[in-house]
Amino acid sequence: MSVRIEFSKLQPSGFEDVISWDEAARYGDFHIHGYLRIEFNDRPVPGLGHFSEEDVCFDFWTHELSRVVQQLSLFPVGSYTVDEGEQGHSAYSFARNQQYLSLSVVSSEIGEGPSNPNYQQVTVKFEDFIKEVEQFFQRLREELNKLHSGAYEKWEGKHNIKPFIVS
Ligand SMILES: [Zn+2]
Repeated sequence: MSVRIEFSKLQPSGFEDVISWDEAARYGDFHIHGYLRIEFNDRPVPGLGHFSEEDVCFDFWTHELSRVVQQLSLFPVGSYTVDEGEQGHSAYSFARNQQYLSLSVVSSEIGEGPSNPNYQQVTVKFEDFIKEVEQFFQRLREELNKLHSGAYEKWEGKHNIKPFIVS
């Protein structure tokens, strides 16, 4: 059982377009988009990107990954569904059962995204997932600040993303 979260090609994004880091720093109100790959047992979770797999909204996914950890840490059994409902995206059902976490691609309740029969109940250890999400946030912070000094803090502050790791 394994969990891996990888990313690259981070770019600040305005309403529609890619913008420069300088513009992002000036306007403040920007998203981070880029390539994001989440793997459960070496199986990449399908359909994360908007227009391509290099156009994943990190604002959305960092928030939701934090929520998955927070919500499912409350009780030993429970589920949390990530459902963006936009642009035909499927929904992602994370279900915890004691020390295990299963991921299924299900149909969106608020959009038109379909379920995926090939990605059902892919199961990993919950603690491995938490560890990988924590490390993902650390790597993301390092990488963003390498690309543009202070970018992570600026972005985090703007979008009120509070990684649970800083507790
Ligand atoms: Zn976005």
